[in-house]
Amino acid sequence: MAKRGMSQSILKIDINAIYDNWQSLDKKSSKNVETAAVIKADAYGLSTKNIAPILAAKNIRTFFVAIAEEGIAVRKAVGNDADIFVFSGPMQSDAATIKEYNLIPLINSAHQYNQFQLNSPNQIFGIQLDTGMNRLGMEEVEFTSLGKNISNACLIMSHLACADEPSHTQNLQQLKTFHHLTDDLNIRRSLSATGGILLGPDYHFDLCRPGIGLYGGLPFEHSKPVVKLSIPVIQSRRVLAGETVGYGGNWVAKSETQVATISAGYADGLIRAIGNGQILLYDGEIGCPLIGRVSMDLITVDITQLGYIPKTLDLINKVQTIDTIAHAANTIGYEILTSLGARYNREYISG
Ligand SMILES: *Cc1c(COP(=O)(O)O)cnc(C)c1O
Repeated sequence: MAKRGMSQSILKIDINAIYDNWQSLDKKSSKNVETAAVIKADAYGLSTKNIAPILAAKNIRTFFVAIAEEGIAVRKAVGNDADIFVFSGPMQSDAATIKEYNLIPLINSAHQYNQFQLNSPNQIFGIQLDTGMNRLGMEEVEFTSLGKNISNACLIMSHLACADEPSHTQNLQQLKTFHHLTDDLNIRRSLSATGGILLGPDYHFDLCRPGIGLYGGLPFEHSKPVVKLSIPVIQSRRVLAGETVGYGGNWVAKSETQVATISAGYADGLIRAIGNGQILLYDGEIGCPLIGRVSMDLITVDITQLGYIPKTLDLINKVQTIDTIAHAANTIGYEILTSLGARYNREYISG
């Protein structure tokens, strides 16, 4: 690994915690239900290359990605034994990749089915049904038009739109539709991501597909935190009452304030919307308020209460998680996590 530059932030990624979260989610379903791992978008931005081999070595046998290209990195990382499913389904130009890396596309339409049989005869595939989300997957008419052709599919799946809201009526509706479409088939079934696992055994079928819960995000409240972000202080100054800090001069000192400038900004995925007065930067247990606007490479912090200048301040830790930050910025933990940029010095904890 390259030596860390003095102004480079450190993103610590705890792969042990990812595996612990997988185990906790796996324990929520009965023994004959398989728990896979969703590692699309480079393992939610945390690196397939670093994470997937460790999960595979712990006997996780099934992985999901969004597009065929992502499957290449997963295949290289996990070896030949694991199953790798592709949510987006087989686009015509994916045929060679799917074959070479032995990926399993989830077929989303009759058209895709026909193309796939033509381009990739005798290759293994799964089917994705739309049960009400209206995003990806076959609807009932299309599905029944395929008749018995689908009997050699290795998995039939659908996705819940509202699983993070347990009392939402759409959960039960989608469950009913999934039963209606699949009960008389003799094919392995999967309906649930993280949220669906937490809805209970009715939603588990043969295989569950958690993503965000593995990486320490809601709706899995009892997940272990996976990421810690420490940002170096690169300058500090005393600001007098009435002086302003940062772009636009929006933040005005009410009294004399010690300001630390830290070396990360929106180009690192720390979106401007986090600069709305709710976010703290931590020196150990002590939280200091983020002040002024977040800029591309820099954030300013009121460290007056410390009485000293720390070397680094933590933005993401056990207290202020990806979801705390997301909440302040009016978004979701998934978005904060997958936005964390390429400029960090990433340290992986495992073993
Ligand atoms: C992203 C995704 C998952 C994983 O969802 P989480 O909410 O991150 O657990 C599962 N299934 C499908 C179809 C997805 O798109």
